[in-house]
Amino acid sequence: MNPLVQFLEHLPPHIPHSVDEFDRRRHLRDFTLPRAVEHLPLLVAYPRDADQVAAVMKTASACGIHVVPQGGLTGMAGGALPSAGSIALSLEKMRGIEEVDTFANTVTVLAGTPLQAVQQAAQGADRFFGVDFGSRGSCTIGGMLANNAGGNRVLRYGMTRDQVLGLEVVLADGTIISNMNKMIKNNAGYDLRNLFIGSEGTLGIITRAVLRLFPAPRSSNTLLCAVDGIDQVHRLLALARGALGAQLSAFEVMWQDFYAITHDVTGRSPLSPEAGTHFILLEALGSDEQADGMIFARFAEQAFEQGILQDAVQAQSLSDAESFWRIRDSSGELSHLWGKGAVVNFDVSVPVARAEEFVTLCREALARDIPGGEAVFFGHLADSNMHLAVPDPSGQQREAICRTVYATVRAMAGSVSAEHGIGLDKRQYLHYSRSEAEIALMWRLKQMLDPQGLLNPGKVLPESLA
Ligand SMILES: Cc1cc2nc3c(=O)[nH]c(=O)nc-3n(C[C@H](O)[C@H](O)[C@H](O)COP(=O)(O)OP(=O)(O)OC[C@H]3O[C@@H](n4cnc5c(N)ncnc54)[C@H](O)[C@@H]3O)c2cc1C
Repeated sequence: MNPLVQFLEHLPPHIPHSVDEFDRRRHLRDFTLPRAVEHLPLLVAYPRDADQVAAVMKTASACGIHVVPQGGLTGMAGGALPSAGSIALSLEKMRGIEEVDTFANTVTVLAGTPLQAVQQAAQGADRFFGVDFGSRGSCTIGGMLANNAGGNRVLRYGMTRDQVLGLEVVLADGTIISNMNKMIKNNAGYDLRNLFIGSEGTLGIITRAVLRLFPAPRSSNTLLCAVDGIDQVHRLLALARGALGAQLSAFEVMWQDFYAITHDVTGRSPLSPEAGTHFILLEALGSDEQADGMIFARFAEQAFEQGILQDAVQAQSLSDAESFWRIRDSSGELSHLWGKGAVVNFDVSVPVARAEEFVTLCREALARDIPGGEAVFFGHLADSNMHLAVPDPSGQQREAICRTVYATVRAMAGSVSAEHGIGLDKRQYLHYSRSEAEIALMWRLKQMLDPQGLLNPGKVLPESLA
């Protein structure tokens, strides 16, 4: 029998779902570029709670149908793309804040809740959620957990993984594993949470989470500055760490060519691109506006006195700070800013001390391997996370560009994914960063938790090492 007909016959009628083409098209693609071959999901299921997710998975298991979990579809590694003959399981109807606990400093949320709603709930309780990035209005907590997303303030608050105290997950066979723990210390048995966080929907479907909150910052100081040479970047980071301590919340580095493009096209920057070779956006969040302002001013003074800074401008208002951040966030608009059509984006890690060497080697390799090959660089340098964007005007060089960049990452013992995940796009490069034994263990875990291979097939793990 046709698998979809069989699935529909077994699916309990109260589970919301659609086979309408318009709905299925909405679930065709994530934030990555369109591909030559794409697969419309046979159906989209819209469960409202963990029991309904479990019912979908039991039905899928009985019919042997593949299931692709989807959150806000803002992922950048093709992790949420439907595979051939699969159904999409969208968490978009499972949104909402269940509780903010100001004693435990936690927020309990449904997995389809957008990041921004969590940030607002925290703010409403005079608390702060530590993760933030550009897709905050659309990406969901479930997708962020599945990807272990990073963002701008990892330096201070850690990755999404570090925000999680409790988790509820539905396994491939429909079993619900619920441990909505709120306690910071809990060593009772294996830490199952961390098995699912970062597994990109291949081991289970995250349905609810208990997340940590922090005290709401009372002060915020932001500096945009220019330095000459990578040595000064490292000196500035060391000085900031010493002078600002735990208040240092962001240290974003933009190489001159990236900065020049965003400056020219957006006209937003108060510093000329000639002011230095590297531009740094530095942020400190604290608890005392007056005292922190003095500490920050002293830090900036020292950076000038020690000859680290060529030029700098400090935000005088929230709107100044936002305009500085827009320069850094222009990375999402590079294809428009550049006017060169398609852009291949990378999200890799290399040892912090070797960041400039990585830039040089990448530039050389791209110039050697790709006709007209060039790139612009920026990143969360303090987290060893480098981003680069490579124009691909013909749209034909993507594979060659990836091979060249990932080979450079491999040669430096870096990671092919710092924060966006492996998804579909990087799985053939996973072995550049993980050993054969590690990948074999990942496959054993996958086979144990999902013996029928129902959950998000073809993602993360390379078939060749199965
Ligand atoms: C403008 C912009 C800026 C961004 N900036 C950053 C950044 O700074 N740092 C960063 O890390 N990422 C960034 N991203 C990438 C993206 O927003 C994050 O990876 C986000 O975590 C994806 O969430 P989502 O809900 O959209 O997930 P989706 O794209 O829907 O799915 C992503 C993966 O998670 C799986 N999944 C989704 N929901 C669940 C669930 N409930 N249970 C199990 N698996 C699930 C999917 O199968 C897929 O593998 C950015 C994206 C954009 C568009």
